Amino acid sequence: MLIGIDDTDSPQGMCTTYLGAVLARRLIREHMRMRVARLVRLNPNVTWKTRGNAAIMLDVEGDPGRAFTVACETVEELADFSCENTNPGVVVADARPDPAFYRKAVMDFCTTEEAVGILDAAGARYHGWKNRRGLIGATAAIASELVDRTSEILVYRQPERFGMPREVNRENLFAAEEATFPHTWDTVDMANDVVVCVPHTPDPVLFGIRGESPSWVLMARSMIESEPPGISQIWVTNQGTDAHLLAGKIGELREGLSYHVKGTVAGLPVTGTGGHVAFAIRDSEQTVQCMAYEPTKNFRFIVRELVPGDEVIAVGSYKKGSVNLEKMKVVSLAKPVISRPPMCTACNKRMTSDGKGKGWKCKKCGARATEPEVLEISRTLKTGWYEVPPTARRHLAKPLCRGEPAF
Ligand code: ATP
Repeated sequence: MLIGIDDTDSPQGMCTTYLGAVLARRLIREHMRMRVARLVRLNPNVTWKTRGNAAIMLDVEGDPGRAFTVACETVEELADFSCENTNPGVVVADARPDPAFYRKAVMDFCTTEEAVGILDAAGARYHGWKNRRGLIGATAAIASELVDRTSEILVYRQPERFGMPREVNRENLFAAEEATFPHTWDTVDMANDVVVCVPHTPDPVLFGIRGESPSWVLMARSMIESEPPGISQIWVTNQGTDAHLLAGKIGELREGLSYHVKGTVAGLPVTGTGGHVAFAIRDSEQTVQCMAYEPTKNFRFIVRELVPGDEVIAVGSYKKGSVNLEKMKVVSLAKPVISRPPMCTACNKRMTSDGKGKGWKCKKCGARATEPEVLEISRTLKTGWYEVPPTARRHLAKPLCRGEPAF
């Protein structure tokens, strides 16, 4: 059977993945067999998410009626019902529903009615609390089909430590990244000297290591000393796979969806208040603004080197009329030029303008020229892919260390 759960947490605490890890242990204690524990990230632009829009799926062998009861009891015990935005959903189905619903939940917006329709058609057991919105993520999780997948080991805290400052050895985290990158990533941000894998929110997660496979994340995890940890769970995930991206065309982008979109830089990048960098790209008919926000740190240095005429592929979510960059390909570089008055070949002096449209004249010998001297400005920017640093990376964004995008 497939068990899906979503929307059990609030900014004050809890985490759906923790609840899933606790449930997995309870089901194992009831002699059920755990085949897969999956963590899916859904559309990062849904505004009612708590943090990273995660939902979980457990693939289990056992009695579905009993599993449904234990799952509902676990949600009632652990979910943070006090928060208005916490609307849990639990689903149990014998078989995977059409993965089209999962794809829609990752790339677009879904309704609770759509989810319920799918669950009814599948003859699934399900329960939604409060406004039942969690049924969307729970249904998407059991419908998920991962064409690309990664692993994350989430190490949780002992419950008595929830809300207290976390103790994780900083040097170990940097050493683990150094020893296992690029097979693991986003443990730390080397360039910005920042730990990325330890959250600052009051949830049960102590730290999480992301990587290509269970063995790589376990290897990195084995290098990290910390406060006495609680349970840990290795999840199969769609994180770091670009599962949220659609092919986009300027002028046809929809609010709240994420795209890769090709265009030509239409104006010099401008740095606004707060250090956010904006520039426009165009195709033959329309333009769209691209943004590299301040948290994208050194990525903005690359963006600021763009000049009109450069061809780029902008990748990111379309929000409030802008593509918020997650990564970018510089496809080709324009050859910007400046023109200035030519030199007089006889006197080796620079000529001066002889009036608008009249060319240039040497003040000393009176020689004339009709063409200016044209200089190509040299560029330090290189063609290729650039990405935001680990501190600014979205869960779904595929890091370049996993390979360059095919689009
Ligand atoms: P955490 O990462 O800590 O689990 P969260 O960020 O996942 O928290 P939730 O509390 O799960 O946030 O809230 C997300 C809500 O949005 C859920 O109710 C989920 O069912 C719903 N949801 C997810 N994807 C979509 C979508 N594409 N369209 C509409 N609703 C969605």
